[in-house]
Amino acid sequence: MPSTPTVTGRFAPSPSGPLHAGSLIAAVGSYLSARSQGGRWRLRLEDVDEGRVRAGAADVILRQLEAMALDWDGPVLTQSPRKAIYQEALTALQTRGIAYPCACTRREIRGFGERYPGVCRQGLASGRRARSWRLWVPETLPLWEDRFHGWQDTPAPQGDPILLRADGYFAYILACVVDDGEQGISEVIRGGDLRALTGTQRYLQSVLELPYPQYGHLPLLCNADGRKLSKSLGSPTWAGEPSQAWEETLRLLGWMTPAGLHGVPAVEWRDWALSRMAEGHPLYRITPLAAAAKQR
Ligand code: GLU
Repeated sequence: MPSTPTVTGRFAPSPSGPLHAGSLIAAVGSYLSARSQGGRWRLRLEDVDEGRVRAGAADVILRQLEAMALDWDGPVLTQSPRKAIYQEALTALQTRGIAYPCACTRREIRGFGERYPGVCRQGLASGRRARSWRLWVPETLPLWEDRFHGWQDTPAPQGDPILLRADGYFAYILACVVDDGEQGISEVIRGGDLRALTGTQRYLQSVLELPYPQYGHLPLLCNADGRKLSKSLGSPTWAGEPSQAWEETLRLLGWMTPAGLHGVPAVEWRDWALSRMAEGHPLYRITPLAAAAKQR
């Protein structure tokens, strides 16, 4: 009998600091989704933006995941030594005219506002030099289905994204897509801030002839103005209490957590959550009430 391919999920934190409450939602969510389907769960350290990497953060993240009993499969993939591989992907796009050089300075880009209008698409004016390389994204992109949010129409939110930055670092979007392919990722469960970029990532997968994973985007932790909580915006960091981190993360995903589990070891939380999912408990469900509130 042919063996059915199994699910491979992943968690891909950037080692810019310890995991915070928002990143734990992606860690726990992607873990539970993959494992509840009998799948693999892989880990990747997204450190291409070397200026944002904090010394020691990668180790702290691995220890946090271990303390949460979130066990991963295979070696941890670290992006910074893989520049030659990202360059190969970029070269393939350059050769086909899908990536184009951009001469715009930071200041010019700021002047364009929210969306880069593709001014360098037609070639560089004489005397101007390429600073970065961008992906030429078509005006319309195919719809795609989010596991939790349904059908999505997400044209490139900021226009043609940068693939190779002016400072010589590859951009997240390229490294992420190449590595999802490299690690055989079949499902991506992650934070909702990346939902808008998913149509562009899928376009990149199609031109690089990589398979499409399934995508599901989880709730984002926001402050009172609706802005994403990040380290700079004071997202609560996890104080090192794995049992409490499990309880809070499941609650943020909308689970009712039994009082009897309060304070039990992380591994018991994990096994309880997996057993609930085996009985059909959804990882995350957008309730009609929440969907209506979002539209207001
Ligand atoms: N490295 C990204 C982050 O830490 C996540 C990327 C992804 O899941 O695709 O926000």
